[in-house]
Amino acid sequence: MLNRLSIRTHSQSELMDITPLVKDVVDKSKIENGVCYIFVPHTTAGITINENADPSVREDILMELDKLVPWQGNYTHMEGNAAAHIKASLVGSSETIPIEKGKLALGTWQGVFFAEFDGPRRREVWVKIMKKGSE
Ligand code: ZN
Repeated sequence: MLNRLSIRTHSQSELMDITPLVKDVVDKSKIENGVCYIFVPHTTAGITINENADPSVREDILMELDKLVPWQGNYTHMEGNAAAHIKASLVGSSETIPIEKGKLALGTWQGVFFAEFDGPRRREVWVKIMKKGSE
């Protein structure tokens, strides 16, 4: 089953910690061993895993992405949000996390972040839980 989570972002660029939302889907699945697949069905947003203990890590990532891909540039995309499309491709649109003993097997400092690059908007994150067939 595909779980379609609805979220609302608050800034043009933002890394939103959605770890609790993903954990909730894993908990409700009651699956002990398997894989959690997270997919973002947008072209100007993505998903990434990084540190969620110190919020300055998020700020640094966004700041450096802005330097790599400035909002204003010599782009050909007429909609005016070429930078958001490029950043979305840089961070990617999916992540895969193991599920062990019913829990998302993330590293101690890892969190799952929805990466908004053309907000604020209402967005979706699709989460699929796959049960392991055999040990
Ligand atoms: Zn566009």
